Amino acid sequence: MKKVIIIGGGFAGLKAAQVLCKRFKNIKTHVIDKNKNSIFLPLLPDVIGREINHKYLEYPLDQAARVHGFNFINREVSGIDLEKKKVICHDKNFDYDFLVIAAGSRTNFYGQEQIKKTAFTLDDTADALAILEALKAKSFENIVICGAGYTGVEIAANIKAFLLKHRIRKKIIIAEKFQGILSGMPGGLRKYVLDKLGQMDIPVSLNTSIRTASETEVVLSDGKVIEKAMLIWAAGVKCADFLSGTNLEKNAQERIKVDRFLCFKEGCFAIGDSALVLRGQKALRMSVQFAVTQGASAALNIGRINNAKKEKIYKPVDLGYIIPMAGANACGNILGIQATGAMPALMHYIMCIVRSWETISKLGIIRSLLVN
Ligand SMILES: Cc1cc2nc3c(=O)[nH]c(=O)nc-3n(C[C@H](O)[C@H](O)[C@H](O)COP(=O)(O)OP(=O)(O)OC[C@H]3O[C@@H](n4cnc5c(N)ncnc54)[C@H](O)[C@@H]3O)c2cc1C
Repeated sequence: MKKVIIIGGGFAGLKAAQVLCKRFKNIKTHVIDKNKNSIFLPLLPDVIGREINHKYLEYPLDQAARVHGFNFINREVSGIDLEKKKVICHDKNFDYDFLVIAAGSRTNFYGQEQIKKTAFTLDDTADALAILEALKAKSFENIVICGAGYTGVEIAANIKAFLLKHRIRKKIIIAEKFQGILSGMPGGLRKYVLDKLGQMDIPVSLNTSIRTASETEVVLSDGKVIEKAMLIWAAGVKCADFLSGTNLEKNAQERIKVDRFLCFKEGCFAIGDSALVLRGQKALRMSVQFAVTQGASAALNIGRINNAKKEKIYKPVDLGYIIPMAGANACGNILGIQATGAMPALMHYIMCIVRSWETISKLGIIRSLLVN
């Protein structure tokens, strides 16, 4: 029986495992993940803003393994040997016939180790809880968010919602290195977000980066010192560290360039945030919809290769994107149409409820959204 190893049990990896287990009984599927849970990332900001219980965003991978029929290996991958067909973990190596890299992405500090030591991030539920704790602490009077991309904007809006609800007085400022916010987004949406941030009393300092940061102080590139400040770093992401050691073709975020079948080498696939899928000259966004459809597509192609059939081309369908800013403020592009206000916010939460893994999580999320 042929053996597939999927590195990463997030949206892409879980979908691939689910399709392989359901459709191809002659293939044994193993999912390796460094975490015990698959995390529902799009609702992380709401753990802060709407105080959604973090447990509703955590799907235990051993449970997923029982439900779908794959083998879950709880280990961190430190390397891959593509010649010997081995996945390397610190205490053990795993052989494979087919490899799927679905290891997602994490905050990128661009080598700034000092800032990495003190800054908060929003990569998983533990990070969201750490930010919540810090917001309650009296020691911080200022919150500096580095990066006015969609994550920075979402974090700022959700922190504001939390502070207002609990009547905590703290100032929020977003520092953005470039000349404008939400780089690459249409002008109308950028204006909407900037206006909303203004109404929320969240100033954005453009052309500004972080010079240094300690546990209590942040120094901006213009020399301004912000005391009693916590720094939240949302200035970009990069793919898993073990990919750095490979000489595969990758972009600056270390996403692996794949062909039309999501393949980067015979029998080896990359999907989700790990994959660089080009449409013309442009890379597909990192998003749940593409992670899930790529997971299904790679799994079907593995099944086809195993059954001596030709693979099928992955054809992405872009349903659009939404930037939720806590409450009824959101904006985005839905099926090619720009939308702002309560409607995109509602659509975002409906998408999250539909996509979340368990009924108990769906009900818990609905309850939290209605109550908060
Ligand atoms: C705060 C936030 C908000 C977001 N909001 C939205 C949104 O509203 N809509 C949207 O479409 N997208 C959103 N995204 C992006 C979306 O979540 C990602 O594009 C999506 O999760 C990618 O799926 P994936 O399976 O590739 O990676 P992930 O879901 O990140 O899964 C990767 C898995 O790989 C595991 N892994 C990583 N490295 C290793 C290793 N070395 N060894 C073993 N396991 C490893 C991780 O533990 C993880 O379980 C958001 C992301 C964040 C962080």
